[in-house]
Amino acid sequence: MANLDTALWHEILGYLQVRHAAICRHWFEELQPADIDGGLLSIHTPNQIHRNYLQQRCRKHFVEAAQVITGALVTVRFVSGERTPLESPENPPTREGSAPHVTPSQEVPGSTDQIVLSPDYSFDNFVTGPENRLAHAAAVAVANQPGTAYNPLFIHGGVGLGKTHLLQAICQTVLQRDPNCTICYFSCDAFVNQFMDSVQRGEMSAFRHRYRDADLLLLDDIHFLANRERTQEEFFHTFNALFQSKRQIVLSSDSAPLEIPQLEERLVSRFQSGMVAPIAKPSYETRVAIVRAKSALRAMELPDEVACYIAAKVDSNARELEGAINTVQGSAVLQDVAITLGLAREALGESALGARPSQVTLHHITDAVTAFYNVKLSDLQSKRRQKSIAAPRQLSMYLARHHTGFSLEEIGGHFGGRDHTTVMHAVRVVTDRIAADPDYARHVDVLTHTVRNEVEGP
Ligand code: ADP
Ligand code: MG
Repeated sequence: MANLDTALWHEILGYLQVRHAAICRHWFEELQPADIDGGLLSIHTPNQIHRNYLQQRCRKHFVEAAQVITGALVTVRFVSGERTPLESPENPPTREGSAPHVTPSQEVPGSTDQIVLSPDYSFDNFVTGPENRLAHAAAVAVANQPGTAYNPLFIHGGVGLGKTHLLQAICQTVLQRDPNCTICYFSCDAFVNQFMDSVQRGEMSAFRHRYRDADLLLLDDIHFLANRERTQEEFFHTFNALFQSKRQIVLSSDSAPLEIPQLEERLVSRFQSGMVAPIAKPSYETRVAIVRAKSALRAMELPDEVACYIAAKVDSNARELEGAINTVQGSAVLQDVAITLGLAREALGESALGARPSQVTLHHITDAVTAFYNVKLSDLQSKRRQKSIAAPRQLSMYLARHHTGFSLEEIGGHFGGRDHTTVMHAVRVVTDRIAADPDYARHVDVLTHTVRNEVEGP
């Protein structure tokens, strides 16, 4: 067993900074490499949240860095807790897997021990402005007093506006205060899939326990319940069970409860019975603050004029702002120069004007779909409803929903001025058909590859 040399460790961090700048965070400095034992490098993390995150999202980058720098075939694992934890009320001794309270039946993705939360998504890192102040305040209140302040809390807004960020911030705050809390945090998609799985396997009672025993249930992107009658029914009962025992429920959606198509009335009224908090697109001031916050997280030196430039150029949402920061940072690292306004202008070029760099665009999708189905773009954008056109159009909407950052409204607008409910319906139809028809699923795979290759190269 040998202790990793401090100099080597700094070289590893330096390597990551150059090769994988986008994953680097200022708190990497707090990681503590322990020993290399039998080719295994153990790295201690501040807590379980960081551990899960690093293990899931960054491990392969660390392995690569460790191998290049040591020249040996080492692998990496992350261990939660400092090497010599201080025992204090704020800093209880930790052991791996210690924090969350789990029973075997709860060991499913999304339940406490398995949750992968991004340490970026904390309240500290959330920038508030008039567009999101209500949602933020409600989320903080819920995190401080689950089950009492606002129940349920329903946060809605377009893509990239911080819904997932707030949900995860609630999870982190609660877990930090009470590591034994049982949290279920799921994307609605996962909830639907688990429900269908459980039905098929005849394991409904385990499914029910899993959710109904939660202290806190958070479901992200609840609009995916649209058209799912049986899941809605099940969710209604889960909701009631939790609600009656004063457990906190937090939901997010891309639209307000009343605007989610095909959502049962009784669910709509349940959702509206607590706090409904909208998030709108960030203003220029908020965007500047978000750019500053994101670059601080990466310990990036970003001159103020560059922050303002990015915020002015990218006016859609925070996710796109992050994409722009990535582009600028990547370009600076590649050229090994400091970030300046000139560099940012050059790096963002035309991209921020609408074409999203190295991202799938609607053109990629319509190009692939029109070629594959031998239909014309004008057909996809027309009002014609015959199946030979409606089916490729629906598939295009599905691909757009999954591979671009456009909102339902934007996608609907592009395909013949249709409204967002039409797009949601299309996504549902295609999802169902993929599940039912393997040949169709293969077509969708082929198209997905075509679309991605156009962006990334084969
Ligand atoms: P949504 O779930 O609404 O689609 P996310 O929560 O995934 O959006 O946010 C997308 C990205 O933008 C994340 O990196 C998130 O941290 C960031 N972001 C969104 N809103 C804010 C904000 N107000 N302050 C800081 N970062 C934000
Ligand atoms: Mg989200």
